[in-house]
Amino acid sequence: MITIKDIKKTFDKTVALGGVTLELEPGKVHAIMGPNGSGKTTLLKCILGLVKPDSGEIYVNEFHVNGNCEYRKFIGYMPQYSCFPENLKVKEVIAMLKDIRGNHCVYDEELIQKLKLESIFNKQIGTLSGGTKQRVSSSVAFLFDQEIIILDEPTAGLDPVSSEIVKNKILEEKAKGKTIIITSHIVSEVESLADRIIYMLEGSIYFDSTKEELYKTTGGKNLNKAIAELIESKG
Ligand code: ADP
Ligand code: MG
Repeated sequence: MITIKDIKKTFDKTVALGGVTLELEPGKVHAIMGPNGSGKTTLLKCILGLVKPDSGEIYVNEFHVNGNCEYRKFIGYMPQYSCFPENLKVKEVIAMLKDIRGNHCVYDEELIQKLKLESIFNKQIGTLSGGTKQRVSSSVAFLFDQEIIILDEPTAGLDPVSSEIVKNKILEEKAKGKTIIITSHIVSEVESLADRIIYMLEGSIYFDSTKEELYKTTGGKNLNKAIAELIESKG
């Protein structure tokens, strides 16, 4: 369970988050949508402790996020732009991360196999295309079998086959009771994955609905239409 209370964050004069309050639950996929610059990545980084909010509180499984990073062991993370050391080989990055995490946990190597990472194990990160880096990065997000999985635009740049593999993995992990947060621009993807849709605009939550509620308020139209109508009705 993640509890976010009235988080605010300003960069210079830009209000990235203008007071966000949310509760994110186990066994659900939460999709954070919204245009570029609406604060999605900043919100995820606040949960991870990578960005320090100006005010507000965040709790991850009762741990207060305030510089103490112990709670991070609960979270698997795929950043929007991965930044593994360019000179390391794929297998070295994976070995290094296992080392850092301590070799005592159970590894989930399903994505390493399904996304065929073995075939690029000896390639240096710096030589990989954006999509291939995303394959590495998504595999790493699930590797340590954590109970919270945060994926920032996980399928952007992925080829269609890999994208389907990652989406199936998200649903599989959700079924195990994990708390999953994704950001996405792709309505069809959100439709097939998300239980709840949190739409952000200019640093605030514009609406926060379950998928069923969205269908209901707009008379069962497809999700694209439902979201567009809701945005228009509020605008
Ligand atoms: P999104 O992920 O929804 O595209 P972001 O959270 O990345 O949005 O950005 C929200 C706003 O905060 C944008 O206006 C962005 O330019 C600004 N911002 C984000 N990170 C920084 C930073 N490190 N320094 C300055 N401005 C930032
Ligand atoms: Mg972003």
